[in-house]
Amino acid sequence: MTYQVPAGEPPLGALACPEPEDRPDLWPTTARRTPDGELALGGLTVSEILTDAPSPVFVLDEADLRGRAASWAAAMHEEFWPSYGMAGGEAFYAGKAFLATKVAQWALEEGMGIDTASRGELTVSLAALQEVGGEDATRLGLHGNGKTQAEIAVALGHHLGHLVLDSLEEVELAARAVRDLRANGVFGPEETGRVMVRLTTGVHAGGHEFIATAHEDQKFGLSVHAGTARQAIDVIIAAPELELHGLHSHIGSQIMDLAGFREAARVVLTLRHEVAADTGHLCPEVDLGGGYGIAYTGADPVPPSPAEVARTLAETVRELCTELGDPVPHVSVEPGRSVAGPTTVTLYTVTGLKRVELGEGTSRLYVSIDGGMSDNIRPALYEAAYTALVANRRPDPSVGLTRARVVGKHCESGDVVVRDVDLPADLSVGDVLAVPATGAYGRSMASSYNLFTRPGVRWVREGESGWILRPETIDDLLRLEG
Ligand SMILES: *Cc1c(COP(=O)(O)O)cnc(C)c1O
Repeated sequence: MTYQVPAGEPPLGALACPEPEDRPDLWPTTARRTPDGELALGGLTVSEILTDAPSPVFVLDEADLRGRAASWAAAMHEEFWPSYGMAGGEAFYAGKAFLATKVAQWALEEGMGIDTASRGELTVSLAALQEVGGEDATRLGLHGNGKTQAEIAVALGHHLGHLVLDSLEEVELAARAVRDLRANGVFGPEETGRVMVRLTTGVHAGGHEFIATAHEDQKFGLSVHAGTARQAIDVIIAAPELELHGLHSHIGSQIMDLAGFREAARVVLTLRHEVAADTGHLCPEVDLGGGYGIAYTGADPVPPSPAEVARTLAETVRELCTELGDPVPHVSVEPGRSVAGPTTVTLYTVTGLKRVELGEGTSRLYVSIDGGMSDNIRPALYEAAYTALVANRRPDPSVGLTRARVVGKHCESGDVVVRDVDLPADLSVGDVLAVPATGAYGRSMASSYNLFTRPGVRWVREGESGWILRPETIDDLLRLEG
């Protein structure tokens, strides 16, 4: 039986999900079909994984996450190796993509630092630092707008490497926090708080306006062009409590083209130069942020590797500093999505099928699954595209395909997980669908809408598995009631 696709849509087959062997960058590195046709991750088939884990479940390939973290750490380390005029480089994992103690621990063990944006993320990162026997909280950072004095005091008290101030008010709060820390003996009488300043450079990049964060008309950062950044910098340099460690820029998310980073680096390094010329203070560090894109579907290009990104950034920074006549700063980056995204696959079970006739013999198959916008809000929030593969069996090519939409169980018509995908025409209730690249901004943005219990995150590695986060239960939800 052949089903015609709705008018104006790509031909049948064009939207089929690539198998792991066809697009390895879309899948965790250990993903493959077993000889009997099941998808396997970390040496376990999906039926083995689902024996120990209720569906839906996020499955995270530990080896893949460690490999990505190690690649970023090595790339920044090597490209900014402190010789030939370079001053070192470092990669911080942006924990908001997905953070749990184990994941933070793996990133730290593989040589990355961790960036955080809340008390919760910072607490988990400090716990992970302790797990790896590390004392050195210069490997941790705290970002975010609207930080409270208490949050700033925690960051300063732990001597975080990156405390990125986002407003003039936060500069005041940081100075006050240092005075308190001196008064209660946590800091020595002359000790200063190390801070950075988040700049808006006017450069914005990335797929979707809602997630492009370097517009001037937005909540983050201090404007280079309007002069508020310089104002904050001057206050920090003059403050006896504070030490201006560096300048920070984050230009957006899901960026594939590195040109935006060149532009942002120019604005940041030029400001660094001007500040040095006027005040004599040359910032030792520049942080160029995160936002490095990944593939979500077969239509996306293969993204640049960490080594390519680091090489481009190193060339750019070297060139600009030569032009300006400045020593090269220590350079850091903060990838989140590109560390966690491709490491994880969500497994869903098909719970219902509904064929909707669209006229002239065309139709769309609506595929209901046992999850939805509560475990993946990105399609509803950003119109993000995903794809899905039948994972519990190898589809028989002679059966043909049908144009499908994978939808959740929530009371919203926008509750879509995969807007357009070609699935086998014999798809049945009980089949397992694997949605790749859900490791970033999936579980971390999950909600309990409709009083759904949030899915667990299962690590897999060489035939073994365990929980990173166990699945929530109804009891967990009821426990919150007053
Ligand atoms: C979100 C964010 C990141 C990470 O972004 P990705 O797109 O996940 O790489 C890094 N730095 C800052 C300041 C951010 O807000």
